[in-house]
Amino acid sequence: SSPLSSNPRLPIHAATGTGLTARSWQTEAPLRMLMNNLDPEVAEDPDHLVVYGGTGRAARSWEAYDAIVASLTDLADDETLLVQSGKPVAVMRTHTWAPRVLIANSNLVGDWASWEEFRRLEDLGLTMYGQMTAGSWIYIGTQGILQGTYETFAAVAEVLAARRGVSTSPTTGGSATLAGTITVTAGLGGMGGAQPLAVTMNDGVAICIECDDARIQRRIDHRYLDVRAASLEEAVELAVAARDERRPLSIGVLGNAAEMLPRLLEMEAPIDVVTDQTSAHDPLAYLPVGVPFAEWEARRTADPAGFTKEARASMAAHVRAMVELRDRGAEVFDYGNSIRDEARKGGYDRAFEFPGFVPAYIRPQFCEGRGPFRWAALSGDPADIAATDRAILELFPEDERLRRWITMAGERVHYQGLPARICWLGYGERARAGARFNEMVASGELSAPVVIGRDHLDCGSVASPYRETESMLDGSDAIADWALLNALVNTASGATWVSIHHGGGVGIGRSIHAGQVVVADGTALAAEKIERVLTNDPGMGVVRHVDAGYDRADEVARERGVRVPMDFR
Ligand code: NAD
Repeated sequence: SSPLSSNPRLPIHAATGTGLTARSWQTEAPLRMLMNNLDPEVAEDPDHLVVYGGTGRAARSWEAYDAIVASLTDLADDETLLVQSGKPVAVMRTHTWAPRVLIANSNLVGDWASWEEFRRLEDLGLTMYGQMTAGSWIYIGTQGILQGTYETFAAVAEVLAARRGVSTSPTTGGSATLAGTITVTAGLGGMGGAQPLAVTMNDGVAICIECDDARIQRRIDHRYLDVRAASLEEAVELAVAARDERRPLSIGVLGNAAEMLPRLLEMEAPIDVVTDQTSAHDPLAYLPVGVPFAEWEARRTADPAGFTKEARASMAAHVRAMVELRDRGAEVFDYGNSIRDEARKGGYDRAFEFPGFVPAYIRPQFCEGRGPFRWAALSGDPADIAATDRAILELFPEDERLRRWITMAGERVHYQGLPARICWLGYGERARAGARFNEMVASGELSAPVVIGRDHLDCGSVASPYRETESMLDGSDAIADWALLNALVNTASGATWVSIHHGGGVGIGRSIHAGQVVVADGTALAAEKIERVLTNDPGMGVVRHVDAGYDRADEVARERGVRVPMDFR
């Protein structure tokens, strides 16, 4: 019924196989990845060029899309296409080491950086929202969410092990699991639905509270959730039995988290880990206690202000229970949904007694240059990803956490569009993996080139004070120079395309971040570029955290030879 559904371009699928539709793999790669972002299996709303994350787009308009495709098809290997918020604005003569595409999306001058001004300019056709990997053509579907959640729970497992006195590494090489522990969370939506599988992939037991029965069913249908309990009591019984056998199990239970968490306290249920992924950031998307699920829509539409007050009061009760579970020894964290701030607004003054997930678990990894390394097979052949999975396991045999992820991902992740893989690798490791992939293309072990990129949510490429750079040691949360230097150094190092975006993840005015993608086409030139890009890109993560005063980053810089001129410690 969409006015664009008669769009002759749809559905869009990237070309596959070894035949070129552009002049070289350097330009074929961004062309295929742009199209892949708009594949109906990948994009949320391809009719409107929306890839994910609200209105994150791949191109500003269909005319702009056509012009990007035409430009890339014809682009030479000493030329660079410039894209301004999804619209191609120039082709310039550069050189073979220069990126083939340079992208700037959604950027606004500070005082003008509000959603209101952004929407005004968007309505005039002057800009578009690029999110993180939508406008920079390296989104790979929901695998990224699953992997990030897996990585977070793996880090939680290391923290729990350290508390028990087991010596472990909080980042790579740790072998702790969640076996023998029970995690409680709520929300089985778009992001939150990855939680049950991420916990069981870490060998743990999860109780997932969700007020929408259809969401529980969908997660069971997709094999992200194992079973459903008829009551909270039954959920706890099932959880304890599985925990005692050290058997991974995820259990969905229908109900309101603000009611069920306090009941877990009353029951003195043995809970080890607590978090939440209800849509707390938007009080109208959080169901207050006492409002029947069936009346949710009508009640919030009729009285948004009154509903907001009720939702905040319930969030206060919800967070109070989280804090009290922490008082009793549970590991508790905020999973990036602002529930602490909403509970505070709802009148609960101890809300900030537990940390956000980035300072608690992710930052130690950022100090090692670790982050969401990802690649996609331009051949379209899943056998190419299976071969790279084997190569990763051979390269890093000592990394137990990585082995668990790659093995489970091979079995459980369903590809969307071009087959792809994501895993977290650190400084030094990314360059080794990239070099190996390029050799595999050269030797014919892979049937076609691969692209190697990452999310903008990475160690040295984002300034986002409510998320990735919350509570930096030196207070430098809002300093965005690092993200810009990251884009510049990737450009100077030979990346195939580089992007600078504003507003991804947390919205306009709240973040500035950069991305890079480099093509492994099996040539000697690609090998040189890959070595520099995949060294310098995570290197930015190490130096950003050395500069902020993190000891671990300092150690990594010394051990692995990252040069920091003013590191006098
Ligand atoms: P979503 O809207 O798809 O799902 C939220 C779910 O919570 C829904 O299924 C809803 O029925 C359920 N829910 C609402 N109120 C409830 C209540 N009182 N009790 C039980 N269930 C309730 O949202 P999503 O995409 O899954 O995102 C969840 C949250 O995570 C959002 O606030 C989002 O901003 C945040 N988020 C975090 C990260 C991260 O990096 N950790 C990334 C993106 C988003």
